[in-house]
Amino acid sequence: MYETQYHRPTSLSEAASLLSGGADAKYLAGGMTLIPTMKQRLAAPSDLVDLRHVAELKTGISVSGRSVTIGGGTTHAEIAAHEGIEAIAPGFHYLASVIGDPAVRHMGTIGGSVANFDPAADYPAALLAMGATIHTNTSTYSADEFFLGMFETALDDGEIVTGVSFEAPDASGYEKFRNPASRYAMCGVFAARRGGEARIGVTGAGQGGAFRWTEAESVLSANFDPSAVDALSVTTDNMLSDLHGSAAYRANLVKVVTKRAVKKALGQG
Ligand SMILES: Cc1cc2nc3c(=O)[nH]c(=O)nc-3n(C[C@H](O)[C@H](O)[C@H](O)COP(=O)(O)OP(=O)(O)OC[C@H]3O[C@@H](n4cnc5c(N)ncnc54)[C@H](O)[C@@H]3O)c2cc1C
Repeated sequence: MYETQYHRPTSLSEAASLLSGGADAKYLAGGMTLIPTMKQRLAAPSDLVDLRHVAELKTGISVSGRSVTIGGGTTHAEIAAHEGIEAIAPGFHYLASVIGDPAVRHMGTIGGSVANFDPAADYPAALLAMGATIHTNTSTYSADEFFLGMFETALDDGEIVTGVSFEAPDASGYEKFRNPASRYAMCGVFAARRGGEARIGVTGAGQGGAFRWTEAESVLSANFDPSAVDALSVTTDNMLSDLHGSAAYRANLVKVVTKRAVKKALGQG
């Protein structure tokens, strides 16, 4: 047994000050990653600073024209139920609807997912592909500068993800090849087209977490069609390899799933 002190702040400043006061304190959002980790004794925080009652994180979702802003405490289920997002960013809307299971979607938050940066988390693929901005209590980051490596982000100790924002691309599609046991992505690809520029975010496959497949972006910017990636091959360097699938299997998935995501973005999936 180990002891954990529970705190329930109502503002960002109170949360940040509580965190800095705990020897090994951690923020708690939906608890969908942190609580199982604690149950498995992989984490034993001295203090839990609960973010669920912090008003600044409960700002919800706002859509203005094609600009989308989502508060850090917004659940996956709230995003999956939002008709405004569905209308302008259908790929992102669909992505939220296929995270985990209903319990995970009703508790888990976008802020917690982004801060955690699990190598198979879905949102990072979309945020990279859409060129999203991640907002914190002290700074703002482009997705490219925020996601650094597996479970590693640009967040400083105690920094809180307060939300994300993005301009909806002209077309977007997400395809997820699930691990049938965990429902996490073995490979998930978000395809976005904005004018003549295509961007591809890949999750679940890379050792360093989600990444942009820049070779595919080049050929798809010239011709936004699934066939454009036919001539490309994906190196097994830096691909994840585990009991669920080898590096070669995942490298092949990246190409197959990218083609399906582009097809969806074209409205053909
Ligand atoms: C069975 C199961 C299946 C899942 N399947 C998927 C899936 O298919 N795809 C997917 O993407 N995810 C999946 N998840 C993870 C889920 O999306 C979680 O909701 C998410 O990873 C963490 O969000 P949370 O709000 O629960 O954060 P928590 O678990 O509360 O916290 C996670 C970490 O982030 C920190 N943190 C939380 N909020 C903030 C914040 N605002 N600022 C800074 N740090 C913060 C915490 O201190 C902790 O270290 C699954 C989880 C489970 C249990």
